[in-house]
Amino acid sequence: MFCNECGSLMFPQDGKYVCQQCGYEEEIGNKVEKFSTKHEEKVATVLDGSAAAFMSKMHIICPKCSHTEAFYDIRQTRAADEPETQFYRCCKCNHQWRIN
Ligand SMILES: [Zn+2]
Ligand SMILES: [Zn+2]
Repeated sequence: MFCNECGSLMFPQDGKYVCQQCGYEEEIGNKVEKFSTKHEEKVATVLDGSAAAFMSKMHIICPKCSHTEAFYDIRQTRAADEPETQFYRCCKCNHQWRIN
């Protein structure tokens, strides 16, 4: 790399070529820009409580009518550090309750 002004040899310095003779500076042309190629794609699993179905029956006593069968459903809450919640719905009176 030679200086455009005086023809002296230039030395790389601070990302540029700098002429030691006249102080002329030139950008280093082949400077490689680093682009992050990491494609961070967060797959968010959103559980819509209203869409969840009570599929299974369980032998449990309804706190309202004392019926001994209820549908149950287990849902993971949005926060990962919280325990999953068990939802129950009485087969007889449709009373709903939950147990954490
Ligand atoms: Zn020069
Ligand atoms: Zn009930």
